[in-house]
Amino acid sequence: ERLVGASADHEEQAVEAALRPKDLGEFIGQEKVREQLDLVLRAARARGATADHVLLSGAPGLGKTTLSMIIAAEMEAPIRITSGPAIQHAGDLAAILSSLQEGEVLFLDEIHRMSRPAEEMLYMAMEDFRVDVIVGKGPGATAIPLELPPFTLVGATTRAGLLPPPLRDRFGFTAHMEFYEPAELERVIHRSANLLDVEIDTAGAAEIAGRSRGTPRIANRLLRRVRDYAQVKADGFVTREIAGAALAVYEVDSRGLDRLDRGVLEALIKLFGGGPVGLSTLAVAVGEERETVEEVAEPFLVREGLLARTPRGRVATPAAWAHFGLTPPRPSTG
Ligand code: ATP
Repeated sequence: ERLVGASADHEEQAVEAALRPKDLGEFIGQEKVREQLDLVLRAARARGATADHVLLSGAPGLGKTTLSMIIAAEMEAPIRITSGPAIQHAGDLAAILSSLQEGEVLFLDEIHRMSRPAEEMLYMAMEDFRVDVIVGKGPGATAIPLELPPFTLVGATTRAGLLPPPLRDRFGFTAHMEFYEPAELERVIHRSANLLDVEIDTAGAAEIAGRSRGTPRIANRLLRRVRDYAQVKADGFVTREIAGAALAVYEVDSRGLDRLDRGVLEALIKLFGGGPVGLSTLAVAVGEERETVEEVAEPFLVREGLLARTPRGRVATPAAWAHFGLTPPRPSTG
């Protein structure tokens, strides 16, 4: 796994649990989402009702799971956590839905990866708090209607556009989560350092924030690696120098690029004069699979304005040249 990868494995999720903000007040950044969600939840509480279904869209590691837990906490409701890929049959979903308590929050991560039949069952459950359970097969099959207690579905997806419109339309509230600003990540880092008993100064937190790719999960992960370094190589106190030296060991550079990211850009610049060059050629040059270059390295490089995908191939932007202290050649005339 990459140190700057945005998704977490099981082990990391356990570590993360300790760092999760517990209520909206503790949740850093995402001002608009927080303000809107606060209104939705307060109003529901005032009416003594179950909150509307909520759709959270955004990249991995931005806090969708955390927000769903906060929604449950603010509503003083229990929460059930599952994911689209875990629900392959409509029956799997029926089992979950029929065991929900009144007001319970059902968090469905990667909701766009649910099977079609399950998705159709969900439409009715969201709208009418009812499902039809099909019993038997073939001509003898019968649909048994089942009443459900009112519940709040919190769906999470990397892009709302991936959802079929009928599903998207059944959410009362949709929140789009943005990447975090460095100043917000600094606050995330200070908060986590506090919880982990790590001493860190402002410049140390800023140094980690700048390398965290706009993502709290990465910020927390880098903080843990920097803490190790500070303990082993210094007195445990994290300064800018310590953070920089620690992350140099892990090959995460000043902009949060790792070895793979830099390999791609360097190949583009040094072997192909900045491009354009085809994806397959570029992949061979860095000794990686096409998919790895396209799906793992490129999204962040494109987002950072370091690499462009053009019809003629991949191109290193002037910002990419500048990142390596180089000047792009003048475009040839004629
Ligand atoms: P995935 O889609 O991969 O499941 P996610 O968007 O659900 O990711 P979370 O698991 O909620 O992300 O958050 C990842 C980590 O980042 C957690 O440890 C959480 O505590 C921290 N975090 C996320 N958002 C915030 C925030 N706004 N303030 C403080 N910490 C945050």
